[in-house]
Amino acid sequence: MSGGKDSTATYCRAIERGIEFRAVAADTGNEHPATYEAVNTLHLKTGGPRVEWVKANFDKQIGRKRWFIENHWQGAGVPVDIVDRALDVLDPTGNPFLDLCLWKGRFPSRKAQFCTEELKIKPIDEGITRPLLATGATVISWQGVRAAESEVRRHLPPFQRIGGQHVDLPGKLYVYRPLLRVDTVEEVFAIARRHGVEPNPLYRWGLKRVGCFPCINCAKSELALVDGHFPEQIERLEAWEAIVSEACKRGHATFFNIVNDPVMEGEWLALERDGLAMQRFSLEQFGIRRMVEWAKTDRGGRQYSLFARDVSTICNQWGACE
Ligand code: SF4
Repeated sequence: MSGGKDSTATYCRAIERGIEFRAVAADTGNEHPATYEAVNTLHLKTGGPRVEWVKANFDKQIGRKRWFIENHWQGAGVPVDIVDRALDVLDPTGNPFLDLCLWKGRFPSRKAQFCTEELKIKPIDEGITRPLLATGATVISWQGVRAAESEVRRHLPPFQRIGGQHVDLPGKLYVYRPLLRVDTVEEVFAIARRHGVEPNPLYRWGLKRVGCFPCINCAKSELALVDGHFPEQIERLEAWEAIVSEACKRGHATFFNIVNDPVMEGEWLALERDGLAMQRFSLEQFGIRRMVEWAKTDRGGRQYSLFARDVSTICNQWGACE
């Protein structure tokens, strides 16, 4: 469950089949309150099972990173003030998304979309799937993906055996995709409405996806909507950028990949290569605030989506991110 339209319809389809099932959501720590509300009240509206939450924990990874910084950064020529700043912020916050970024020293990006794996796939696998498989159970994981969503998803089978990292366990894992042949968004919403479930209110604000708020893959128009209706979410990410920037050697980390900045284009890479980027710009000038300001304009006539719509293979297979 992501709290979005497809996973909600999948949950409702399972009710219609009259089977017993468990519903699981991964708390990324980067969700809108409306999404928590939608997930937490689903069982009350439908009579289905309460959705179980899993949550990634990066305490150990952050602890190991602290040790590494204390023992290796100075020896590798990292200035002492950068070492001290990193150690000051490197403590787990309990927010999975932020802690993941602190551990990695960066935010995820389309080309390095480790957020899906670390925040959703692994916690569900370790918390739910593997323990079930260890008992010898057969697990059928229902995934709310639709063929009409992308070229890659068009080629997915409706039913599939998954081996891979589970071959050491006695149980068997399958994926079932009950929405694969559901074509339109209207049909998806209609399935949920049959069970008295109205769409997540974020859709009514014009947002196309609600999986994270915002997602690193969100479109330019969506970013402007987020800022227009929920400026506190942008302020939160601004604060996160400042914290994660302290935890990395480069001294800057932005929620949206800086090399995608449509105004700077290649300029940033050239400045960074010459060690001049941070001298020339402050975080306020190139972080999420700058992207938001750009998203509200038609500057340069560039109206294309800044953040590409195609998603990683793991997203396509598991449908973990809307
Ligand atoms: S919804 Fe977007 S930001 Fe969140 S885990 Fe998925 S890809 Fe990453």
